[in-house]
This record gives sequence, structure tokens and C-alpha cells, in this order.
Amino acid sequence: MDGLWAVRQCYGRAEGDTFREDPCWEEGVPRLEGLFGELGVPAAFFIVGRDLEVDRKRRQARKLVHRGHEIGNHSYSHRLGLTGEPAGLILDEIRRTDRSLRQLGAEPAGFRSPGYDVDGRILRALRRTGYIYDASLLPTYLGPLLRLASSYVAGEWLFWRRQFGRISYGRAPRVPYFPRRHKIRKEAPREEAPDLVEIPVGVTPGLHLPLTGGLLLTMTESRRRDLFRRLARRGRPVLLLLHAIDGVDCRQPIVLDTRRPRLGGFAMSGGKKEARLRSILSEFSRHFAIQPAGEYARRMLTEE
Ligand SMILES: [Zn+2]
Repeated sequence: MDGLWAVRQCYGRAEGDTFREDPCWEEGVPRLEGLFGELGVPAAFFIVGRDLEVDRKRRQARKLVHRGHEIGNHSYSHRLGLTGEPAGLILDEIRRTDRSLRQLGAEPAGFRSPGYDVDGRILRALRRTGYIYDASLLPTYLGPLLRLASSYVAGEWLFWRRQFGRISYGRAPRVPYFPRRHKIRKEAPREEAPDLVEIPVGVTPGLHLPLTGGLLLTMTESRRRDLFRRLARRGRPVLLLLHAIDGVDCRQPIVLDTRRPRLGGFAMSGGKKEARLRSILSEFSRHFAIQPAGEYARRMLTEE
């Protein structure tokens, strides 16, 4: 549930007034929630703590909690490069949001790090907070390429940012697993009692591109069908990642004011996005039994 200010920040743009007047919350979140309700798809909503400083967003978040949606923690300030920060700051980013979410009645048990930037220290902070899962790791070798693409779209050199993970994460499991304490991309040895689940972001077979709304919205329907069929044939769980911006009308350039090619449906109308998301979610639920990330993690831990 990145606000528009956080999305703009990812492309090196100033937030302007998008923190208070935020179409991601005003339009994107209701559209996504509406579709989830219509299609009977349960989802986990990962909230950035800073957004809860805005009354309207806080009221909206409280409603999500009361309607029974699973709520996750997406850090306090959506600072990119969290793994480069001191342990105290990491813990603070997690705990501040945890406290705000609990004040709304939520019981967060999982975390997504901004920009897919995660390591063993973040997992340690999660364990100390009592969380049972992390859903940040992107199991792909394409991290540097994605940073290049993002720099190109932004028209600015963002390559050295800690974003999209490390190359070695391409070797991490692509299904939920119990990570080793000091080597997140490896599975914990059997004798280590599991206490935390890593739910990696889904990737496409072959290229290992992240399975995000941005990718799925811009694929043709037949390619998307083919992709879901290929994923389903593997018979393994897949984490599908949508962002609030995926539900926002972006015909006006609200994310980027450059003439660069718009990736991820940044130039698509709200109606078109809604129709495509409906088709994405219904097609996906034909192949997969959908459940929120935390529910899945809890089941893994109790079955162990
Ligand atoms: Zn984010």
C-alpha cells in the first residue's frame, strides 16, 4: 500500500503534496479492496506507518482492520536501503509501524521491506518484534538489471541503491521456506527450530521477473494465461504482489513527469486497470487457492 509519495520517491521524485492528497489511498486501495471483495480473494495489506499520520488514511486503515483483512507492516518511512542502516534504526522502523497498527486493532505478524531490500539483520529485528514471516525477498539474479531499468525510467542514476536484492538471492528458494539465521537465502538446517518463514515474491519461470501488478497489467491476456498455467503446473505456492498504484488512474503523469516509456501501467486509465485486474485475479484464482501471506506462514509453522 505504498502511497504515491513513496512510489515517487522510488523514482527519485519529490513527494510534493502527494503525502496528504494521495490517489493511491483515495482511489487505489478502495479499487483493490472492492475487487478482492467481488472476487472473494483474501489478501494481506502491507501498510507504511507514516501514512497513518494522515487522518483520512488512518480511518481507511482502521476500516480495513475492522473488515477482517490481514494487515502487514511495510516499515515506517519507506526508506530505501534499510539493510544499510544501523540495527537500532531498522528495529525502530518496524516497531513504530507495529505500534500504530496495533492501535488500530490490527495484529501484524509479517513484514515487507521497502524495495525488496532484506537481509539477516532485518529478519533478526522481525524475530525480536515477534513476527512470524517476511515477504521481501526477490529470488532473482536480475536485481542489477531491474535497477538499471528503474534508473532509465526515472531518468536518473539510481543504480547503487539497495533495491531489488542481491545477485546471490537468485539462488534462494522460490517457495516459502525457513531461512537460515545468518544466511537468508539458504534454508535452515533441520535441527534449527523454525520460528520465521520467508515468503519470497513470486517470479516468472525462466526470466525470474517479479510477479507484480506492474508486470501483469502490461502483459497481453494470452501471455498472462500462459504464465499462470505454467506456474500452476509446477504445483508450488506463488506470492502475487500488487501495489496501490496498480489501482490508480495514471493517464495524467502523476508518478513520473518524464517522457520516458512508462513501465508498469503508469500510463493506463483506472477503468482499464480495473478490468485487467479483475481478469488477472479471476484467472489466478482458477489455478490457485488464494490465502493471505500470514495465514500461509502460520500454517507452515504449526505443521512443522
Ligand atoms: Zn513499498
